Amino acid sequence: MASIFTKIINGEIPCYKIDEDENFFAFLDINPNARGHTLCIPKKEVDKIMDLDEETYMGLMAFSRKVGKAIEAAVDCNRVGISVIGLEVPHVHVHLIPLNGMKEATFQYKVAPTKEEFEAIAKNIRSKIE
Ligand code: 5GP
Repeated sequence: MASIFTKIINGEIPCYKIDEDENFFAFLDINPNARGHTLCIPKKEVDKIMDLDEETYMGLMAFSRKVGKAIEAAVDCNRVGISVIGLEVPHVHVHLIPLNGMKEATFQYKVAPTKEEFEAIAKNIRSKIE
């Protein structure tokens, strides 16, 4: 069965899209640790990051860097942190999290933007993609 993230890529489930290319896709996390928390995924559905072939792994990191730089330019934060966990959704995803301290990195602290806020954040990040 297709993962929830494959359904997002295919447009079967809505998302606040940030960026896409031939192999990768980025969108806002629906339950963010901080405003601007973004997930970058390979279109190829693989559960664990260490099981990616090297080319996809390196491509995902390069794509995440591009998106992360746009987040840093668009969101008021000290820096963008990276986490890969994957215990909830079995489709590789890189968490890009705007950090002002450790609490945003813990996954214990959550924020709840409105739909309008999600849309504005996504638009702002998209405008900074180079
Ligand atoms: P992990 O698998 O790394 O533990 O966490 C999965 C992440 O995916 C969580 O941060 C969760 O909020 C996010 N997530 C789960 N389902 C959806 C969804 O349908 N849409 C979006 N945008 N994010 C999701």
